Amino acid sequence: MPRLFTLLLMALPFLAFSQDLTYLHCGHLIDANTFERQAEMTVVVEGGNIKEVLKGYQKAPANASVIDLKNKTVLPGLMDMHVHIEFETNPDRYLQRFTLNDADVAYQAAVFAERLLMAGFTTVRDLGGSGVNVSLQRAIDRGFTKGPKLYTACKSIAVTGGHADPTNGARQGIYDYPGPEVGVADGPEECRKAVRQQVKNGADMIKITATGGVLSVARDGYRPAFTLEEIQAIVETANDFGIHVAAHAHGDEGMRRAVEGGVTSIEHGTLMSEETMDLMVKKGTWYVPTITAGKAVADSALIPNYYPEVVVPKALAIGPKIQSTFEKAYKKGVKIAFGTDSGVFAHGKNALEFQYMVEAGMPPAEAIKSATVNSAELLGISEKVGTISAGKLADIIAVSGNPLDDVTTLQDVKFVMRKGVVYKNQN
Ligand SMILES: [Zn+2]
Repeated sequence: MPRLFTLLLMALPFLAFSQDLTYLHCGHLIDANTFERQAEMTVVVEGGNIKEVLKGYQKAPANASVIDLKNKTVLPGLMDMHVHIEFETNPDRYLQRFTLNDADVAYQAAVFAERLLMAGFTTVRDLGGSGVNVSLQRAIDRGFTKGPKLYTACKSIAVTGGHADPTNGARQGIYDYPGPEVGVADGPEECRKAVRQQVKNGADMIKITATGGVLSVARDGYRPAFTLEEIQAIVETANDFGIHVAAHAHGDEGMRRAVEGGVTSIEHGTLMSEETMDLMVKKGTWYVPTITAGKAVADSALIPNYYPEVVVPKALAIGPKIQSTFEKAYKKGVKIAFGTDSGVFAHGKNALEFQYMVEAGMPPAEAIKSATVNSAELLGISEKVGTISAGKLADIIAVSGNPLDDVTTLQDVKFVMRKGVVYKNQN
């Protein structure tokens, strides 16, 4: 008998968890199914999911807890489709390749992940790191550390000497020639192998650098890297695994090849021509602008010795152009998903991007849609997240004021719930 009693006691927390019921009384709700701001709503959360969305402040049953968000606007959790969760900009960044162990990277990445979550980002797509990102994903999923739901590309794939060749700028003899096993690939065969290796290592999608990049220790910042044939090999192989390809691209030629080769998203898109915009509309390719990163690298380049000498002119020339490209692409009807490239600037400041999007002519409702509904569609998880609807995950945030009037309110998120767990609740 005492033994049975002990067993019952042990089971209690689990029973309580399975019945966990929370009523959110929302002063206003933008559910992202529509972008009308509905007053006085109740969102019922059971376990990790949204059970019901009801009009009025519904009385909670005795077994439920109530969270008062009557002075707030409640929205779906935000999603950033371009972060680098392992790193954050600092003047020692280039030296850190030689000084940090994976464990150092892991501890700092855990801090960045928590910061993203506290800023209201409940889902992020990590577009390239060392492989620690995959371990971080597991740690978050297992509840060992706090963070958004993380989807990761593991390590980016580049051509020899391209943006994301990890040996760029190092003196000879430090490294062996890098190959497809570390994400450096030339020719369709190596490209296929590089994709398979990243999937083996835990990648949820593939990131390629279709052109040169700003922050790599290499002269070129925008010229094409992969051939069309190579990109097609990458996309075919990734699609065989049921995963998509994201392409970093600044210059138009490499970008056009990536779109033609069938990538799912173009990242940055800095020097995108009108022809490429038309092609993206036709093929349904997503554009992830990362305006914030462009502005941030141009600012940092003005600080003496912040970047290596070879990076400074690239940062000044390329960074500030993204916002006007975004403006044109949006007007042309290119599909936009929200992405910032955080890591290139401080994690947690991601909502600055909303402000820059609105400055460039996008209505706040569309900007919010890009970070919810559209991002969910890009990731192929619309049935789980993106709106506040019955049956979806309880990924919910709240801000003061009305983000449809003033999108900068999203820079100060007051309430964060992910999968029904409250991580932040401020007045
Ligand atoms: Zn990036």
